[in-house]
Amino acid sequence: MPSSFKILGSGAGPGAPSFFCDCPGCREARDNPASARTRSGALITTEQGNVLVDAPPDLRAQLIRERVTRIDNVLLTHWHYDHFGGLGELEYYVKLERKEPIPLFLPPSARAQFAAAFPNLSEVFRVFSWAFNLEYRFGDLGITPLPAEHGVETAGFLVKSPTKSLAYFPDTAGLSTATARILEGVHWLVCDATFYGENWYPNSHMSVEQAIELGREVKARHTVLTHLAVHYSQPATSRELAAAVAPHQGVSVAHDGMVIEL
Ligand SMILES: [Zn+2]
Ligand SMILES: [Zn+2]
Ligand SMILES: [Zn+2]
Repeated sequence: MPSSFKILGSGAGPGAPSFFCDCPGCREARDNPASARTRSGALITTEQGNVLVDAPPDLRAQLIRERVTRIDNVLLTHWHYDHFGGLGELEYYVKLERKEPIPLFLPPSARAQFAAAFPNLSEVFRVFSWAFNLEYRFGDLGITPLPAEHGVETAGFLVKSPTKSLAYFPDTAGLSTATARILEGVHWLVCDATFYGENWYPNSHMSVEQAIELGREVKARHTVLTHLAVHYSQPATSRELAAAVAPHQGVSVAHDGMVIEL
């Protein structure tokens, strides 16, 4: 079985629908669950097991939806609630089924925050710090944390199979020259496109337009827009977003459950 990269969630922090909101995007997501967006995370499957990238608060529902029955490693991009809030969902998997701690790779600066936030999970995870620019091997895949631009210490992950490369940068405001150079010619750039039109947080996120431009700059063969806020200065539905993106060749909008073969 070839390795694959599955998008568990394609939404930003609020998720879509947001329980408190009745905007066109949330209404669409409520009426048509296929356009709902849970918080951002991904599952990388390899011949030697599954690597979870981020643990969004929706993790339990995501794993059930995708019929995932095992997690062998967890990598976090950064310590923001929409990316770590679901760590506790793995407690009973470890206690009842796996019966040994899961290796959890955190940003070095997040180890103290993890210990303070989840003292009850010290036996659920074996905690490591990832290091930027160091390649970690999982089966026949190499996964390298690269610096993202997001205020707090944040990685994007470059995933390399023997034949394909994929860069996952769910939270970043553009890329440093050094990171962009490493990503040049990547097969898949799966990246932050939190906003559409006006970018409310230009120092930590990108807009759809900026993400498309970034894909062009690094000469990505495919650009997949993810971490979508759904809430914009000018409201837009997922359907309108897809129509706006359609003229751009090689660009697509992520959806929950989307799979990319590696
Ligand atoms: Zn986020
Ligand atoms: Zn809304
Ligand atoms: Zn973030």
